[in-house]
Amino acid sequence: MSSSPFLPLPAGLEISTIETVDDLLVVHVVSTKGRSHCPLCCCAATRCHSQYTRVVADLPCAGFRVQLVLHVRKFFCDTAGCRRKIFTERLPAFVEPWARTTVRLRQVLQALGTATCGELGARLATHLAVQTSPTTILRRVMALPLPAVKPVSHLGIDDFALRRGRKYGTILVDLTRHRIIDLLPDRKAETAKAWIRAHPEIKLVSRDRGGDYATAARQGAPQAVQTADRFHLVKNLAEAVEKALVQCRAELQKGPKAKEAAKAEVPEEPLLSLLTADGQSYSAHQAERYDRYQHVVALRQQGMKIKEIAKRVGLGARTVQSWLASDEYPETNYHHPHRSRFDAYASYVKQRWDGGCHNIQQIWREVKAQGYPHSDRALRAHLEPLRGKVKAEFPAASSLDRFSAKETTWLFLRPLKDLDEKEQQELVAIRQASETAETIYHLVQGFLQLVRTRTGEHLDSWMRTVRACHIRELNSFVSGLERDKAAVVAGLTLPHSNGQVEGQITKLKLIKRMMYGRAGFALLRQRVLHTV
Ligand SMILES: [Zn+2]
Repeated sequence: MSSSPFLPLPAGLEISTIETVDDLLVVHVVSTKGRSHCPLCCCAATRCHSQYTRVVADLPCAGFRVQLVLHVRKFFCDTAGCRRKIFTERLPAFVEPWARTTVRLRQVLQALGTATCGELGARLATHLAVQTSPTTILRRVMALPLPAVKPVSHLGIDDFALRRGRKYGTILVDLTRHRIIDLLPDRKAETAKAWIRAHPEIKLVSRDRGGDYATAARQGAPQAVQTADRFHLVKNLAEAVEKALVQCRAELQKGPKAKEAAKAEVPEEPLLSLLTADGQSYSAHQAERYDRYQHVVALRQQGMKIKEIAKRVGLGARTVQSWLASDEYPETNYHHPHRSRFDAYASYVKQRWDGGCHNIQQIWREVKAQGYPHSDRALRAHLEPLRGKVKAEFPAASSLDRFSAKETTWLFLRPLKDLDEKEQQELVAIRQASETAETIYHLVQGFLQLVRTRTGEHLDSWMRTVRACHIRELNSFVSGLERDKAAVVAGLTLPHSNGQVEGQITKLKLIKRMMYGRAGFALLRQRVLHTV
């Protein structure tokens, strides 16, 4: 027997015998080459000294583990002056000196290791009839030479958590080839700088705003353009917006009330227009009620008790209490058709309601624009019969009741077309309920426009608009941009961005999770650089 298609061997090696022991094929292999080369002087040697055997594991064959018994020889080196007198026959492409596995089996173990992890790799190996252990697999992975870093012109740099909240590393991405090219064990400026400095071919560094990577890029690659990447710009904006929205939470929850109160301070548009829709003045009854209300408030401000006020103005104590409990004049519900100033708008409102618009705020804004003089609450009262009796007791539950600054930030940032109908309604409700939220929304849209259209040249004008709005949290965002302006403008103008770096970090997290998060940095680096 010489060779077998089931067990190909390099030239010069031949199968002599095969034995089967349980699930193990023991294959005896002999060397047929008449000569070998001395490892020291590289000269051919033909004089055989002795024969000896080496046992190595090889790839499995048809479900059998395979063990090769290699019958190899020792030769005399006859070259004059060579210090090596006797040497062992070499089979470099097939088995390395001292190795206990063939090269092809080692490569399979490395592939298992880089595709899975130690534990999983070893389990999988068992099914493939390869005998190994998790430790061996990890050792094999660690023995792989690191892939050489190809010249990189556009570098993306960011941090990632080695242990969340405790230990961070740095990820370096070739933005042109879309590949992770290296990982660094920390996120210090010095470490990043040293790496960057070793690559003078870098033309552009895309990194987060300010901070250590900015320093590293500036000092390590002074020849390169620095760009603050858009992913981080939007992320920073989102953080500022969330803080700003938390600040205007109170305003949002008061909602329309706050808006009306604000308007009440404007003399030309008083809170209570004492005119009916058709220009008639309040009825005597209505005017009297309003007077009483003002009287009640005045007495209370003088320190009078509710019971005494009720007695004085001739009202029930509960009425007085409810009037005082609300911060504005509680209008009467105009249920009596003959007195209602709602009549003029009733058919329009009914038509809108029946047409499917059940957003009272929205209808109110529309009729108000047509001249309806009362608050949304008054309108709500008219709509109660339409809304059903149970619901009519309470104002409709709205998104504002469970307002969350974080979720709202998302509503503001995502493209309108990506929001479903409910989200769009929430967005409208929030923008209508708070002037500040409305302002923030427009500023956010303005910035996203810069990002989308890569029109960094308009950054200045956007920053001026923000400053004019006097929203503290957005002002500090703008101050941050100002400090790193050249890089921000470049980031908003040039096509490269770290968006893909975030994608690479996600891949990296998956690898880490597969390794049960226990991977040391060195192993993680091996694993990542050989996988992605
Ligand atoms: Zn020699």
